[in-house]
Amino acid sequence: YLKWKAPDILFRNTYDVLAELTDNQDLIAVWCGQWGDMGLPPKQSTFLVHAMIARHYMYGGYYPVGGSWRIADSIIPRIKAAGGEVFTYARVENIVIENGKVRGVKMQDGHLIECPCVISSAGVSNTFEELLPADIAAKAGYERKLKDVQPSSAHLGVYIGLKHTAEELGLPKTNFWIYPDNDYDGAVDRFSENKTEPFPVVYISFPSAKDPNYLERHPGTATIEIVAPAPYEWFEKWRDKTWGKRGDDYDAFKQELGERLMTYLYDKLPELRGKVDYYEVSTPLSTNWFGGYQRGELYGLSHTPERLQQKWLRPKTTIPGLWLTGQDILTCGVTGAMMAGVLTTTAIVGVRKIAPLMKRIYS
Ligand SMILES: Cc1cc2nc3c(=O)[nH]c(=O)nc-3n(C[C@H](O)[C@H](O)[C@H](O)COP(=O)(O)OP(=O)(O)OC[C@H]3O[C@@H](n4cnc5c(N)ncnc54)[C@H](O)[C@@H]3O)c2cc1C
Repeated sequence: YLKWKAPDILFRNTYDVLAELTDNQDLIAVWCGQWGDMGLPPKQSTFLVHAMIARHYMYGGYYPVGGSWRIADSIIPRIKAAGGEVFTYARVENIVIENGKVRGVKMQDGHLIECPCVISSAGVSNTFEELLPADIAAKAGYERKLKDVQPSSAHLGVYIGLKHTAEELGLPKTNFWIYPDNDYDGAVDRFSENKTEPFPVVYISFPSAKDPNYLERHPGTATIEIVAPAPYEWFEKWRDKTWGKRGDDYDAFKQELGERLMTYLYDKLPELRGKVDYYEVSTPLSTNWFGGYQRGELYGLSHTPERLQQKWLRPKTTIPGLWLTGQDILTCGVTGAMMAGVLTTTAIVGVRKIAPLMKRIYS
């Protein structure tokens, strides 16, 4: 639908579109300064997604008061009031198909939840490669279709705790995006080939400085988060080991990467040296362990021009009763995932029934 309505320019790569406007590489680099927000540098990313991210920053950013857990906390009572139930730490083993139709989901603990309709937000790779029986995914053509999309970049996270308030430490409310130079694509390639090269992008964020009621919950403290890309392949050899027990070599590698990332923080804010109380490093295996993403993807599917032209990345699947939602059918981000929810709801209940909800959203 988008392809039919929207100009072709939106589906070209970001760099090519911007290079038609200027040959000033510094200016292009400034325009693409938030490429980390979709995890793809400008010569690989889709201009449409770049344009949406760049435009949304013109109106500033948003932080949920109380932290990101408040999103779930606000939605769960609505789900329950409508007769729904929410289970946490409840892994689906597989989607049960009978006579070609959805019959329910089998949970990892052996329970079968019977239902005629399953909406999966676990990501398309998980849904078709892990949760659906392989013969059914292949017969429906999804095994072949998945070859046309790639996982987004994997990442490292450093979660830092400090025993001073953001105000005492002078922490900013803005994010830092740190790059080695203006050649973002080159920096990604160099780093992928040689891990001693500088990180192609380092994002530093100050959640406690942004959250107006953080100190009511955690007086006298502050938090900082660092995110940077790291290829999944670097960690693959520890894939089958249990979280927290992956061995000394894994811990040493994590520590080395964590220390490297901490130098980016101290370089920008040297006054924090000696003030950090604690930090913990996550790797793509942590994202796999906690979020289920098979290759530790930061943003589900990669936002390449090809991905946005896959007509099968939509709510309705060819398997009766199975629907998709979440970032993979629209774009990454909390808003992308939320609007994917609206899209899937519209596809299931029809445009007429969704109209009152849309009125409330836009009034
Ligand atoms: C470090 C980091 C920072 C980010 N920062 C921002 C930000 O500041 N702003 C922003 O807008 N976006 C941000 N994003 C992106 C944003 O979090 C995602 O785009 C968004 O959460 C996608 O929502 P989703 O519902 O599609 O998928 P998810 O939020 O990933 O939800 C999918 C869920 O499916 C579950 N699941 C998978 N397999 C199974 C299974 N077998 N059984 C049961 N459950 C399963 C997973 O556990 C997960 O809870 C960030 C992402 C990361 C990783």
